[in-house]
Amino acid sequence: MSEVLVVVDHVDGAIRKPTLELLALAKRLGEPSAVLFGGSDVASAATEKLKAFGAEKIYVIDDAEIKGYLVAPKAEALQQLVEKTSPAAVLFVSGYEGKEVAARLAIKIGSGLITDAVDVEDGGVTTQSVFAGNFTVKAKVTHGTPLITVKPNSTSPVEEAGAGAVEEFAVTISDSAKKAQIVASQPRQASGRPELTEAAIVVSGGRGTGGDFTPIEGLADALGAAVGASRAAVDSGWMPHTFQVGQTGKTVSPQLYVANGISGAIQHRAGMQTSKTIVAVNKDEEAPIFELVDFGVVGDLHAVLPAATEQINQR
Ligand code: FAD
Repeated sequence: MSEVLVVVDHVDGAIRKPTLELLALAKRLGEPSAVLFGGSDVASAATEKLKAFGAEKIYVIDDAEIKGYLVAPKAEALQQLVEKTSPAAVLFVSGYEGKEVAARLAIKIGSGLITDAVDVEDGGVTTQSVFAGNFTVKAKVTHGTPLITVKPNSTSPVEEAGAGAVEEFAVTISDSAKKAQIVASQPRQASGRPELTEAAIVVSGGRGTGGDFTPIEGLADALGAAVGASRAAVDSGWMPHTFQVGQTGKTVSPQLYVANGISGAIQHRAGMQTSKTIVAVNKDEEAPIFELVDFGVVGDLHAVLPAATEQINQR
């Protein structure tokens, strides 16, 4: 069976959930092999988890030559690995970096690329949800090694151990790939809340908050949830874009999504409509979000949320 390369997304060796989802999808196409950029410190933290979620092989690429630069060296390293292993496909997490590395690799190896897939079937047929979920496109790469970026939360990770054989893969990075260097980077602000795309519960706020996210954050903390926002809230400068849920933000698929002061525009739905249970609080009983919900509260979020938070905190 051919191997399928999964490019690992991690923070200092902590594997992010979307990578585990990719391992589950890779099993449909062949034998999953993880590709991990990082030194020995990172590798030791990461390999057990990759193995536990199905990696048969783990290629560790020492990032001493790669760290500190933008994405070009990674694409060059992957080109060398693809040329050596001739995989059935290469899967990336759909994100700024994943998509750029995949695009550069596609040009280098002359392969077809599919971005933002939400499913990958046996045989390499992908599903994309486009125009805010109005159309579903089935597509397949017809030339070269299929390169596919997959949106987080497209499937669930499967804890089924693989062989997890670690192999160090030496790469040679050219000077031309090192033309753009990172000169400063700001650490992510630790909020103590789960990552938006990985959270089991998401509590979101929209224009109806009037810019005051205190009730949203209060309920989120009572439930151990991540905070999300509509584009209206982001465009108003109330929350950073990293919090935006929707067509031009993040796609979430938690067990519980609580939409507060959000009307339910199609572009917002595109990012949350696959949530398992949807609750909305909106003062307008005609708001379109109520067409989608399992449980709706017609009321002012500034009254409903503090009352709900208080009840939850008392338990
Ligand atoms: P509104 O539509 O203004 O709704 C506010 C709601 O709050 C209303 O239903 C109102 O009844 C309710 N409300 C007001 N006060 C209260 C209160 N005190 N208590 C309870 N309820 C209250 N949007 C996204 O969210 N994500 C995207 O990724 C996204 N991408 C887009 C991409 C494109 C190309 C375009 C054209 C648009 C996109 N949008 C996106 C914008 C989208 O069309 C909507 O404009 C946006 O989602 C509206 O945000 P909202 O629901 O917070 O605001």
